[in-house]
Formats: sequence, structure tokens, C-alpha cells
Amino acid sequence: MTDRISKERRSWLMGRVGSRNTSPELRVRSVAHSLGLRFRLHKKDLPGRPDIVFPKHKLAIFVHGCFWHRHSGCRKASNPRSSVEFWQSKFAANVARDARAVQDLEELGWRVAVIWECETRTKEGVTSFLSANIDDRQRDPT
Ligand SMILES: [Zn+2]
Repeated sequence: MTDRISKERRSWLMGRVGSRNTSPELRVRSVAHSLGLRFRLHKKDLPGRPDIVFPKHKLAIFVHGCFWHRHSGCRKASNPRSSVEFWQSKFAANVARDARAVQDLEELGWRVAVIWECETRTKEGVTSFLSANIDDRQRDPT
């Protein structure tokens, strides 16, 4: 049997299915890297498995999809018109899980910042987000 799904198609599908290594996250990583910041990914031993962690700054970052994590006031966080109850309970569970992760991380002494998918579209947006959350004076030498 030959594999008929092209590589492009497969990566598109994977991007749709998985919540890890999505392109908004890659954009944040790429900017962090260009700023000379050292980070780690998907720390499994931390509550909520933050997407990007800056150990030196005790900063945990979540890169949230606007739809799934309900970016308030965002166009992308639209409400599906069918199966309303199903979606509402799913969204409520996501939001509750997110809030719980933030609380648990803060209890462990981490600062937590969330960058929304729609804020990762431009390099400038990501840069200002990272600058706002990371003290320049503590920046790692490149
Ligand atoms: Zn948004």
C-alpha cells in the first residue's frame, strides 16, 4: 500500500488535530530565539504543561488558540450554532482547566503569561509580548 496523503496534507491535518507545535507556538519560539532567550518546551512536570517555559525568569507561557480557549472579545472565539450545549460544556471545561493550571503554577512560584493565537500573527506583536513579560536586565547574553 502506498501512502496517498501528501506530506503537505499530512502536516496540515496534524496541525488541525494536535495542540502541540502549532504554528502560533512556532512563531513565539522563533521570536524568543531571535531575542536570545533560553527556553524549554512542554514541561510535563509542570501543571497544565505550559507551551514555553523560561526557567531563568520563572515564567511559563501558554500559547492559546482563540477558539478553544475562548479569547474574550475575539472574532475567532465564535460560538458554534449547533450542538450549543455540547460546545458550551467543552469550552467551560477548557477555561476551568486553564484557570486551574495558572493557579497551580503560581502556587509553585511561577509567573504565568498567556499569548493568544491572534496576537502571534506579527513578529512585532510577539516581541512586545515577550518584552513586557521578561525583564531586559535579566536577559541571557547571546
Ligand atoms: Zn484572539
